[in-house]
Amino acid sequence: MDFQQIFGTSPEAEASAPGRVNLLGEHTDYNDGFVLPTAIPQQTTVQLGLSWDGQHHFYSVALDERVTISEGHHTPSGFASYIFGCVRLLERQGYTIPPVNLHVTSSVPIGSGLSSSAALEVATLRGLRSLLNLDIDDVEIAQLAQQAESQYAGVQCGIMDQMASSLADTEHMLFLDTRSLQVRVMPFPAGAEVLAIDSGVPRTLAESGYNQRRSECEQAAHLLGVRALRDITDPQAVAELPEPLRRRARHVITEDNRVLEVLQGVSTERFGELMNASHASLRDDYEVSLSALDILVAMLQATPGVWGARLTGAGFGGACVALVVAGKVEAIAQDVLERYKRSGYAGRILVPQIE
Ligand code: ADP
Ligand code: MG
Repeated sequence: MDFQQIFGTSPEAEASAPGRVNLLGEHTDYNDGFVLPTAIPQQTTVQLGLSWDGQHHFYSVALDERVTISEGHHTPSGFASYIFGCVRLLERQGYTIPPVNLHVTSSVPIGSGLSSSAALEVATLRGLRSLLNLDIDDVEIAQLAQQAESQYAGVQCGIMDQMASSLADTEHMLFLDTRSLQVRVMPFPAGAEVLAIDSGVPRTLAESGYNQRRSECEQAAHLLGVRALRDITDPQAVAELPEPLRRRARHVITEDNRVLEVLQGVSTERFGELMNASHASLRDDYEVSLSALDILVAMLQATPGVWGARLTGAGFGGACVALVVAGKVEAIAQDVLERYKRSGYAGRILVPQIE
């Protein structure tokens, strides 16, 4: 159902924002470290208009769900919390936000680690900026989006997803220093394209595992006498830490160093090697991989035309990302998926978008 069918009027503004995949720099963002995401072709689009009954109305095509929010209403649950959070945060910045009708469509897979949540927030904020001529820039949009997700949707997340959705495009990688928010838009590795495959394994242990890793990193930083692990560049510095803190810290430090190496400029071959090293570190030192992810990554790495591959996202299930020779990505994706399924797993190609 389109905007007209839901709200009986035409939209007055429209905005879109992409999902993202992280190429390098995993579990570094909460250590004040470095990440290297890129935007994916799938986008979320919001259409908006003023609402004349004093209430906000939000509709999602994907969920076929309509939520109405009256004046003084407490924070809604579900998808409306992300949108409502954006509205409230703009109000807290001093902007007056009138009641709106807002219609959401999206081609970003929801809940697959490609950050449909950030795409929804950034598209919403861009849409409100356009409808109401708000004077906010793309970094502010990312910051408000991240606050909407943590304060209103109740999801603890770093700033990477929202910065990527707000600032990255599909032709470039976005280097981001998560402490200073310094960014550098970098050309995509020459002759390569992104492939992302969902392992089909649900991320059941993800939340507890993630929280445990976060606290291990905090302990390691404390024992090493630094504000965050990003302040250490020499992997030897962790030698005296007790296990498992030693290996956890070593992953974060070597991972930050891999991203910084890319920043210096590397060949596509070297980029692939760094992705492979990242996977080994996530598997052996950080211990966030699973056998399904290791199998899928090994299949990708052994496939001609693949520069490198690793798990992407927090781990414990979810997706793998690979860097693949341009022009061959669909054929390689289908071939690897076929073999992965024959090993008894249920997988799905996420990027590129195959009809
Ligand atoms: P991811 O960001 O990896 O896709 P999350 O669990 O962080 O997964 O975010 C998914 C949530 O974001 C959904 O449960 C829903 O609340 C919200 N969301 C994202 N896209 C849409 C959409 N198109 N329509 C409605 N809600 C959406
Ligand atoms: Mg998300």
